[in-house]
Amino acid sequence: MAKYGMAIDLKKCLGCGACALACKTENNTESELDGRTYNWADFLASTEGTFAAGDVKHTVRPVLCNHCTNAICVQVCPVTPKAMFKTEDGITMHNDERCIGCQLCIRNCPYSSKDINQDGVQYSVISFNPRSSQETQTFYDDDSAVIPGCTSTPKETAVIAGIKPPDKNDYTDADYTAVRPSGVTEKCIFCRHRLLEGKEPYCVNSCPSGARVFGDLDDPQSEISQILAANGHSRLADNTGKLLGAGETGTDPNVFYIGDFNRNS
Ligand code: SF4
Ligand code: SF4
Ligand code: SF4
Repeated sequence: MAKYGMAIDLKKCLGCGACALACKTENNTESELDGRTYNWADFLASTEGTFAAGDVKHTVRPVLCNHCTNAICVQVCPVTPKAMFKTEDGITMHNDERCIGCQLCIRNCPYSSKDINQDGVQYSVISFNPRSSQETQTFYDDDSAVIPGCTSTPKETAVIAGIKPPDKNDYTDADYTAVRPSGVTEKCIFCRHRLLEGKEPYCVNSCPSGARVFGDLDDPQSEISQILAANGHSRLADNTGKLLGAGETGTDPNVFYIGDFNRNS
Protein backbone atom coordinates (compact mmCIF):
# COMPACT_ATOMS: atom_id res chain seq x y z
CA MET A 1 0.00 0.00 0.00
CA ALA A 2 1.27 3.46 -0.91
CA LYS A 3 2.02 6.20 1.60
CA TYR A 4 1.24 9.43 -0.21
CA GLY A 5 3.13 12.67 0.28
CA MET A 6 4.07 15.83 -1.59
CA ALA A 7 7.38 17.58 -2.17
CA ILE A 8 7.38 21.27 -3.11
CA ASP A 9 10.58 22.58 -4.67
CA LEU A 10 10.77 26.20 -3.54
CA LYS A 11 13.59 26.87 -6.03
CA LYS A 12 11.12 26.15 -8.85
CA CYS A 13 8.08 27.87 -7.28
CA LEU A 14 7.15 31.13 -9.04
CA GLY A 15 4.65 32.22 -6.39
CA CYS A 16 2.13 32.61 -9.24
CA GLY A 17 -0.86 31.20 -7.32
CA ALA A 18 -1.90 28.73 -10.06
CA CYS A 19 -2.06 25.88 -7.50
CA ALA A 20 -4.37 27.82 -5.18
CA LEU A 21 -6.63 28.85 -8.04
CA ALA A 22 -6.68 25.29 -9.36
CA CYS A 23 -7.68 23.94 -5.94
CA LYS A 24 -10.49 26.49 -5.59
CA THR A 25 -11.73 25.59 -9.09
CA GLU A 26 -11.58 21.86 -8.42
CA ASN A 27 -13.24 21.99 -5.02
CA ASN A 28 -15.46 25.09 -5.32
CA THR A 29 -14.49 26.32 -1.88
CA GLU A 30 -15.84 29.53 -0.41
CA SER A 31 -14.27 32.95 -0.24
CA GLU A 32 -12.67 34.11 3.01
CA LEU A 33 -15.22 34.92 5.70
CA ASP A 34 -14.99 35.79 9.41
CA GLY A 35 -11.35 34.76 9.74
CA ARG A 36 -11.86 31.50 7.83
CA THR A 37 -9.94 31.14 4.60
CA TYR A 38 -11.43 28.04 2.89
CA ASN A 39 -8.20 27.79 0.91
CA TRP A 40 -7.17 24.14 0.86
CA ALA A 41 -4.10 25.30 -1.05
CA ASP A 42 -2.72 28.55 0.36
CA PHE A 43 0.50 30.51 0.89
CA LEU A 44 2.82 31.92 3.49
CA ALA A 45 4.21 35.11 1.97
CA SER A 46 6.60 37.72 3.33
CA THR A 47 8.33 40.82 2.03
CA GLU A 48 11.47 42.33 3.52
CA GLY A 49 13.29 45.52 2.63
CA THR A 50 12.06 48.34 0.41
CA PHE A 51 12.14 49.21 -3.28
CA ALA A 52 13.60 52.59 -2.35
CA ALA A 53 16.58 50.96 -0.67
CA GLY A 54 16.90 48.42 -3.50
CA ASP A 55 16.90 45.47 -1.08
CA VAL A 56 13.31 44.23 -1.36
CA LYS A 57 12.96 40.44 -0.96
CA HIS A 58 9.71 38.58 -1.45
CA THR A 59 9.33 34.95 -0.41
CA VAL A 60 6.45 32.54 -0.91
CA ARG A 61 5.82 29.07 0.55
CA PRO A 62 2.80 27.12 -0.74
CA VAL A 63 0.94 25.36 2.08
CA LEU A 64 -1.76 22.69 2.39
CA CYS A 65 -2.80 19.97 4.83
CA ASN A 66 0.35 17.99 5.62
CA HIS A 67 -1.46 14.63 5.76
CA CYS A 68 0.57 13.98 8.92
CA THR A 69 1.46 10.45 9.97
CA ASN A 70 0.65 11.34 13.60
CA ALA A 71 -2.42 13.34 12.66
CA ILE A 72 -3.59 15.00 15.86
CA CYS A 73 -6.80 16.05 14.06
CA VAL A 74 -7.68 12.36 13.77
CA GLN A 75 -6.69 11.52 17.34
CA VAL A 76 -9.00 14.17 18.84
CA CYS A 77 -12.02 13.58 16.59
CA PRO A 78 -14.63 12.31 19.09
CA VAL A 79 -17.07 10.44 16.85
CA THR A 80 -17.04 6.70 16.10
CA PRO A 81 -16.16 5.84 13.41
CA LYS A 82 -14.05 8.98 13.18
CA ALA A 83 -15.08 11.77 10.83
CA MET A 84 -11.41 12.73 10.39
CA PHE A 85 -9.46 9.57 9.64
CA LYS A 86 -6.40 8.16 7.89
CA THR A 87 -6.84 6.10 4.76
CA GLU A 88 -4.64 3.05 4.16
CA ASP A 89 -2.54 5.09 1.75
CA GLY A 90 -1.85 7.88 4.24
CA ILE A 91 -4.42 10.50 3.23
CA THR A 92 -6.00 12.40 6.11
CA MET A 93 -9.59 12.16 4.95
CA HIS A 94 -12.77 13.80 6.18
CA ASN A 95 -16.26 12.33 6.14
CA ASP A 96 -18.99 14.97 5.84
CA GLU A 97 -21.80 12.82 7.20
CA ARG A 98 -20.04 11.74 10.42
CA CYS A 99 -18.70 15.20 11.29
CA ILE A 100 -20.59 16.86 14.17
CA GLY A 101 -18.87 20.22 13.72
CA CYS A 102 -17.20 20.29 17.15
CA GLN A 103 -14.02 21.78 15.59
CA LEU A 104 -11.68 19.89 17.95
CA CYS A 105 -9.62 19.07 14.86
CA ILE A 106 -9.15 22.78 14.07
CA ARG A 107 -8.25 23.63 17.66
CA ASN A 108 -5.61 20.89 17.87
CA CYS A 109 -4.03 20.90 14.39
CA PRO A 110 -0.85 23.00 14.65
CA TYR A 111 -1.49 24.27 11.12
CA SER A 112 -5.04 25.47 11.75
CA SER A 113 -6.78 28.39 13.43
CA LYS A 114 -10.45 29.08 14.04
CA ASP A 115 -9.84 32.74 13.21
CA ILE A 116 -6.65 33.61 11.33
CA ASN A 117 -7.10 37.34 12.00
CA GLN A 118 -7.36 36.84 15.74
CA ASP A 119 -4.37 34.49 15.75
CA GLY A 120 -2.31 36.75 13.47
CA VAL A 121 -1.50 33.97 10.99
CA GLN A 122 -1.87 33.78 7.23
CA TYR A 123 -3.62 30.46 6.77
CA SER A 124 -5.47 27.50 8.27
CA VAL A 125 -5.52 24.07 6.62
CA ILE A 126 -8.91 23.17 8.15
CA SER A 127 -11.89 25.49 7.91
CA PHE A 128 -15.46 25.30 9.17
CA ASN A 129 -18.47 25.71 6.91
CA PRO A 130 -20.85 28.31 8.37
CA ARG A 131 -23.96 27.06 10.14
CA SER A 132 -27.03 26.91 7.92
CA SER A 133 -28.35 30.12 9.49
CA GLN A 134 -25.40 31.97 7.97
CA GLU A 135 -24.87 32.73 4.30
CA THR A 136 -22.48 30.59 2.31
CA GLN A 137 -20.83 31.62 -0.96
CA THR A 138 -21.10 35.33 -0.14
CA PHE A 139 -19.06 35.90 -3.31
CA TYR A 140 -22.36 35.77 -5.19
CA ASP A 141 -23.75 38.72 -3.17
CA ASP A 142 -21.06 40.96 -4.64
CA ASP A 143 -22.51 43.36 -7.22
CA SER A 144 -19.23 44.82 -8.46
CA ALA A 145 -17.81 43.91 -11.87
CA VAL A 146 -14.15 43.28 -12.63
CA ILE A 147 -14.59 45.46 -15.74
CA PRO A 148 -17.64 47.70 -15.15
CA GLY A 149 -20.02 47.72 -18.12
CA CYS A 150 -18.25 44.75 -19.67
CA THR A 151 -18.17 41.76 -17.28
CA SER A 152 -21.07 40.45 -15.17
CA THR A 153 -21.00 40.88 -11.43
CA PRO A 154 -21.17 37.72 -9.27
CA LYS A 155 -24.68 38.79 -8.17
CA GLU A 156 -25.84 39.17 -11.80
CA THR A 157 -24.42 35.71 -12.57
CA ALA A 158 -26.43 34.16 -9.73
CA VAL A 159 -29.61 35.94 -10.89
CA ILE A 160 -29.13 34.72 -14.49
CA ALA A 161 -28.38 31.17 -13.25
CA GLY A 162 -31.48 31.31 -11.05
CA ILE A 163 -29.52 29.93 -8.10
CA LYS A 164 -26.74 30.94 -5.75
CA PRO A 165 -24.25 28.12 -6.34
CA PRO A 166 -23.81 25.94 -3.25
CA ASP A 167 -20.48 24.47 -2.05
CA LYS A 168 -20.75 21.77 -4.67
CA ASN A 169 -18.11 19.46 -6.07
CA ASP A 170 -18.26 18.29 -9.65
CA TYR A 171 -16.86 14.97 -8.47
CA THR A 172 -18.28 12.28 -6.24
CA ASP A 173 -16.41 10.58 -3.43
CA ALA A 174 -17.40 7.97 -0.86
CA ASP A 175 -16.73 10.44 1.99
CA TYR A 176 -17.63 13.70 0.30
CA THR A 177 -21.20 14.59 -0.50
CA ALA A 178 -21.58 16.48 -3.80
CA VAL A 179 -23.08 19.52 -2.06
CA ARG A 180 -20.96 20.00 1.03
CA PRO A 181 -23.10 20.60 4.14
CA SER A 182 -22.95 23.57 6.49
CA GLY A 183 -21.75 23.15 10.08
CA VAL A 184 -18.90 20.72 9.27
CA THR A 185 -15.16 21.09 8.84
CA GLU A 186 -13.37 20.62 5.53
CA LYS A 187 -9.83 20.48 4.18
CA CYS A 188 -7.54 19.22 1.41
CA ILE A 189 -8.18 15.58 0.61
CA PHE A 190 -5.12 15.16 -1.66
CA CYS A 191 -7.68 15.14 -4.51
CA ARG A 192 -8.48 11.48 -3.79
CA HIS A 193 -11.19 11.51 -6.50
CA ARG A 194 -8.46 12.28 -9.05
CA LEU A 195 -6.01 9.71 -7.64
CA LEU A 196 -8.68 7.04 -8.06
CA GLU A 197 -8.83 7.97 -11.76
CA GLY A 198 -5.05 7.70 -12.10
CA LYS A 199 -4.58 11.49 -12.19
CA GLU A 200 -2.39 13.73 -10.04
CA PRO A 201 -3.81 16.21 -7.51
CA TYR A 202 -5.02 19.24 -9.44
CA CYS A 203 -2.56 21.64 -7.76
CA VAL A 204 0.31 19.38 -8.92
CA ASN A 205 -1.15 19.17 -12.41
CA SER A 206 -1.62 22.95 -12.63
CA CYS A 207 1.81 24.12 -11.43
CA PRO A 208 3.48 25.70 -14.51
CA SER A 209 7.01 25.09 -13.23
CA GLY A 210 6.59 21.53 -11.97
CA ALA A 211 7.45 22.57 -8.42
CA ARG A 212 5.04 20.06 -6.86
CA VAL A 213 5.78 16.35 -6.92
CA PHE A 214 3.23 13.90 -5.51
CA GLY A 215 3.72 10.21 -4.95
CA ASP A 216 4.45 7.17 -2.81
CA LEU A 217 6.96 7.85 -0.03
CA ASP A 218 7.27 4.12 0.66
CA ASP A 219 8.44 3.35 -2.89
CA PRO A 220 12.18 4.11 -3.13
CA GLN A 221 11.85 4.28 -6.93
CA SER A 222 9.07 6.91 -6.96
CA GLU A 223 9.95 10.41 -8.17
CA ILE A 224 9.15 11.93 -4.78
CA SER A 225 11.39 9.45 -2.92
CA GLN A 226 14.24 10.05 -5.36
CA ILE A 227 13.91 13.84 -5.06
CA LEU A 228 13.83 13.71 -1.27
CA ALA A 229 16.81 11.36 -1.17
CA ALA A 230 18.84 13.64 -3.45
CA ASN A 231 18.00 16.94 -1.71
CA GLY A 232 17.92 18.38 1.76
CA HIS A 233 14.37 19.15 2.82
CA SER A 234 12.36 20.82 5.56
CA ARG A 235 8.89 20.54 7.04
CA LEU A 236 6.64 23.12 8.68
CA ALA A 237 6.11 22.96 12.45
CA ASP A 238 3.00 25.17 12.52
CA ASN A 239 1.09 27.80 10.55
CA THR A 240 3.38 30.69 11.54
CA GLY A 241 6.11 29.49 9.16
CA LYS A 242 8.29 27.90 11.86
CA LEU A 243 10.13 24.82 10.60
CA LEU A 244 10.70 21.55 12.46
CA GLY A 245 14.22 21.56 13.90
CA ALA A 246 16.75 18.73 13.68
CA GLY A 247 15.36 15.68 15.49
CA GLU A 248 11.87 17.21 15.79
CA THR A 249 9.02 15.28 14.20
CA GLY A 250 5.95 17.18 15.41
CA THR A 251 2.89 15.57 13.85
CA ASP A 252 5.19 13.96 11.25
CA PRO A 253 4.00 15.98 8.23
CA ASN A 254 4.15 14.38 4.77
CA VAL A 255 4.55 17.65 2.85
CA PHE A 256 8.23 18.43 2.30
CA TYR A 257 9.98 21.58 1.09
CA ILE A 258 13.15 21.57 -0.97
CA GLY A 259 15.50 24.57 -1.05
CA ASP A 260 14.54 28.22 -0.61
CA PHE A 261 12.19 30.37 -2.65
CA ASN A 262 14.05 31.83 -5.63
CA ARG A 263 13.50 35.54 -5.15
CA ASN A 264 14.64 36.27 -8.68
CA SER A 265 12.19 33.89 -10.33
S1 SF4 B 1 -1.94 19.25 8.87
FE1 SF4 B 1 -3.50 19.31 10.49
S2 SF4 B 1 -5.37 18.66 9.44
FE2 SF4 B 1 -3.66 18.01 8.14
S3 SF4 B 1 -3.19 15.91 8.84
FE3 SF4 B 1 -1.82 17.30 9.96
S4 SF4 B 1 -2.90 17.64 11.90
FE4 SF4 B 1 -4.44 16.85 10.43
S1 SF4 C 1 -15.30 18.94 13.64
FE1 SF4 C 1 -15.85 16.98 12.68
S2 SF4 C 1 -13.90 16.13 11.95
FE2 SF4 C 1 -13.40 17.76 13.39
S3 SF4 C 1 -13.14 16.71 15.36
FE3 SF4 C 1 -15.29 17.39 15.27
S4 SF4 C 1 -16.41 15.67 14.41
FE4 SF4 C 1 -14.23 15.28 14.00
S1 SF4 D 1 -4.21 18.08 -3.36
FE1 SF4 D 1 -6.19 18.76 -4.28
S2 SF4 D 1 -7.39 19.40 -2.50
FE2 SF4 D 1 -5.26 19.33 -1.82
S3 SF4 D 1 -4.43 21.40 -2.11
FE3 SF4 D 1 -3.99 20.24 -3.99
S4 SF4 D 1 -5.73 20.67 -5.38
FE4 SF4 D 1 -6.36 21.24 -3.29
